[in-house]
Formats: sequence, structure tokens, C-alpha cells
Amino acid sequence: MSLINDILIEESEIKNYAKGDTLAEKAEGLLKQQTETWELLRNNYSDLKKVEVRNFEFDGFNVKVQFNPGRIISSSAKVDKDSIKNRKCFLCMENLPADQKGLLFGAEYLLLCNPFPIFPHHFTIPKLDHLPQMIIGNLSDALQLSKELGKFYTVFYNGPKCGASAPDHMHYQAGNKYFMPIDDEYPSVIENSARKILQNENLTVYAVDNYLRNFISIESNSKKNIVEIFQSFYKIFEKISDDKEEPMMNVQFFWDDVKWRVIIFPRQKHRPSYYFEEGEKNIMLSPASVDLGGVNITPREEDFNKITKDQIIDIYRQVSISKEYFEYLIKEVAKFGNETEAE
Ligand SMILES: [Zn+2]
Repeated sequence: MSLINDILIEESEIKNYAKGDTLAEKAEGLLKQQTETWELLRNNYSDLKKVEVRNFEFDGFNVKVQFNPGRIISSSAKVDKDSIKNRKCFLCMENLPADQKGLLFGAEYLLLCNPFPIFPHHFTIPKLDHLPQMIIGNLSDALQLSKELGKFYTVFYNGPKCGASAPDHMHYQAGNKYFMPIDDEYPSVIENSARKILQNENLTVYAVDNYLRNFISIESNSKKNIVEIFQSFYKIFEKISDDKEEPMMNVQFFWDDVKWRVIIFPRQKHRPSYYFEEGEKNIMLSPASVDLGGVNITPREEDFNKITKDQIIDIYRQVSISKEYFEYLIKEVAKFGNETEAE
């Protein structure tokens, strides 16, 4: 208990930094406090201001590539069982850097500043306890978190086999809204090219298959309804997935002041073929939620310079669920909706 008390920032101190009482404002305040008191964080945020970005235009949307050397640890992280077992968990309270402070979210999570940022404000929200990364059973926490952070931030999840660099410690992340192109593009993508696969008075489910990476989105203001439809999606996806831990997915949670937008990117692969190529063909790009949101992170400058539009298309195609499986998922999720109505 004393450990957590050492980590939590004092109420009297956060008041000096936060402009208000919401979790979003406190998180913003925490980042200010941490950039003053934690040298590593201050240096890494200062480096972030210098990162280079390339923009690729597609039909009705954009994809960015960010050259971010600070992300090399995450992009090249060994996430196999032995490597994980043999390292100290960097999200466990006893291993946090001495200067790191945090906020409590609910009774089970700590909100921390991510010391290797991609976003201008980037947070990691681990559980206090060392429990495996899994979305089922934790989904309503993400909904609550995205609502409480919704004034400034969007929340996202990386599956244990597709982007989480701590697959053994449950955590969400959060970053500035509208930093990822998908935040802006979503309404027009839905309007112009989504299929509505399910609608009832509490919720709408869409499928999008012409955005380079297939996704399913759920819009609703009811936590209960989102959790129900997500669970049915999960069961269906589990059946066609080889993975025993969790079917591979990245998920984003965006609260728009009225309702949630939950975007699910079902995955078929963690790392694209380019990651394993030798020599000139090699590209170190290890896609996770932020990349699928439209900001691809290349920690090495040569990859940033050489990557082409065709390679971006191919990378998204390789790591996203195939058309065939996507169609199956959609068909089955739509059925669930009909069954609910018939009850
Ligand atoms: Zn841990």
C-alpha cells in the first residue's frame, strides 16, 4: 500500500498543474508536472518535437509515417514467452522509475505518462496488479476511461500478440484526439463507404472494407450494449482465430460527448513480411493501434525515407484480417443482432 502512495501524485500538487477536476485535465496536469521533474521524460518529449512526418494521400483519406527513434525499443520488442519472463515488468509499480508519478483511475488502474511518446500527450494506463493483457472482462474499463479522458484524449488497446510490448501486464494507452487521421476521417468514411451491419435503438454497427485496413465500429451511448455486442463479436472471432490467448485485434475508444465510437481492427498477423526481410528490403515497422489509426511509426530513418505508398498498402493488407474472414465476421455479428431482436 505504501508503494502506491509513493507513486500517486499528491492532490495538493496536481492542483497546481491541472486546469480542472476531470481526469483529462488532471492527466494533462500530470504531464506538465512530470516534464518538470523527470529528466528522461522531458528529454524524450523535447526530441518528439523534432520528429519528421511524411504524408501519403489516398482516395478520401491520409496515412502518415512518423520517424520516431525513441520508439525502437517498442517496435523491436521481443514479446515471446521467454523474453517476457526474463525481464522486469516495466508496468509493475515496484519497477517504475523513481521520478515517475501517476494518478489513480478507478480502483484498479494507474494513469502514467508514457516516457516514449508518439502523441504530444501520451499516457499508459496499467492495472495496479500484474495481470495478463486481455480485453475481454476489461472492456467496460476502457469505455469509462475514454469517457473520463474524452475532453482531450482517445484511448486504445493493443492485443498481447499484436502490438502490446507488455503482453503480460494489462494496460490501455491514451493520446490526443485528432492526432491519428482516423479521428477526423471516421465520420466521412462511415458516411461514404461503410456498410451498416446492425442497428437497434441503442447501437449501430458498421463495417468498412475500403480503408486499406478492414474495421468494424460500434457506436452507442450504452456501455452494457457495447459490451454485449463486443462479447458476441469476440466469440465469433475466437472461433476462426488460431490464437489461443486472444484473437488478434487493436481497438480504439473515442468518446464524442454523446456516445462512444469503438473501432475494432481484427488482425491476421503481428508483423508484416518486411520486418523479417534482410538488407535493403527490411523495414522496421511493427503495426499496432496507432499505425492502424493512420500514423505509422518507423524508428529508423532509412525506413522512413524509403517506404513507399505501395508498401504501406501492402503492410496494412498483410496485417489486417483477410476479406474472406472479414465477411464471415460481419455476417455472424449481424445474425447476433437479429437473434437479440427475436428474443
Ligand atoms: Zn507487471
